[in-house]
Amino acid sequence: MKWDAPLEAIRDGRVQGRIPTSVIVRAVVAMGLCRLGSLNALGQTKGSSFWSRWLGHALPSPDTIGRVAGLVDVESLRALGHHVYERLKRGKALMPPSHGLLALVVDGHETHATYKRHCPGCLERTIHAANGDRTQYYHRLVDASLVTADMHVLLDAEPILPGQDEVAVAVGLLDRLVRDYPRAFDVVGGDALYADPRFFNWAVDHGKHALAVLKNDRRDLLQDAQRLFEDQPPTVVRDASPRRQCWDMEGFTTWPQVKVPVRVVASHETRQVRRQLDGQLEQEVSQWYWVTTLGAKQASTGAVAQMGHHRWGIENEGFNELVNQYHADHVYRHEPTALLVFWLLTQLCLNVFTAFFTRNLKPAARKAFSMLHVARLMLAELYLPPTHAPT
Ligand SMILES: [Zn+2]
Repeated sequence: MKWDAPLEAIRDGRVQGRIPTSVIVRAVVAMGLCRLGSLNALGQTKGSSFWSRWLGHALPSPDTIGRVAGLVDVESLRALGHHVYERLKRGKALMPPSHGLLALVVDGHETHATYKRHCPGCLERTIHAANGDRTQYYHRLVDASLVTADMHVLLDAEPILPGQDEVAVAVGLLDRLVRDYPRAFDVVGGDALYADPRFFNWAVDHGKHALAVLKNDRRDLLQDAQRLFEDQPPTVVRDASPRRQCWDMEGFTTWPQVKVPVRVVASHETRQVRRQLDGQLEQEVSQWYWVTTLGAKQASTGAVAQMGHHRWGIENEGFNELVNQYHADHVYRHEPTALLVFWLLTQLCLNVFTAFFTRNLKPAARKAFSMLHVARLMLAELYLPPTHAPT
């Protein structure tokens, strides 16, 4: 894997660092790509001949990696994420889905919670238990994921700090993303929390569209839509799985805090699922509502429903993959900057690995080997004996 200048340009706050920041970042990237999940496990591979080739340097100790991660200049790290994005874009890996729109999905994620250690970035909540109230400390961030035809690219993240509200943090994150990735996305999307005038008006003000799940929090709009849809026959969206019966109407002004009239799309979905218990097929039914500024000219009913469901993608392909396979929720060092640095580097690893697996590997190799298998082949490199190992 070749890295150009942005990796060498990553800085940290040490006055005179004995080990270059890029060495620390490379070590964390190797840990992430190999899904090791712990600095101590990484430290145990220090005798591998891989490190002198990959780092041009001995592997720094787990302590040093954790300490320097807490001093990394996050903006210079984000520039590396942007560089990877540009490479993917140039390589035509970021094509839009068939409806032609690129959606940026934002979502909140809680990384970890503890009763014990806390730091200045910790959020607090009171947990009521049988033996009294306890203060629990936790971290939460907003992540932004670009939904392309065949992969989700995690573009950036912003921690929610004490006293901050998730939608306000998301809007701040969007301000940075529209500055750094102005033409990367057409639509911003989110769950019901994002059916919020700040989110929708941000999109209107920046020449983008917004789409969010519509629930009872916007009761007037939802009831208005439900009343009108009652008199309308549904349209069946063909070629969709699950089968969708949809209702679609533009021009709602029942949400006056948003600067433009909005459109509501409802989808009654039926899918066949096989029960785990006895293998029998049964029907699963779900009902969805979405609110959007997208007009019928820009997006068909089916396209709105498809994009509406993509917010699950950030949970399923984004957070689940990051957490379960890449150990992103692991507390490598409980300190606000270090937590963000490890998170951003882990999502970078997921992007790079997914792109490598889906775009670089030949179809035959993809068929023969799972992603985990390929990750383990990389891990095997870390267990190579030293170059001059006694025989
Ligand atoms: Zn903390």
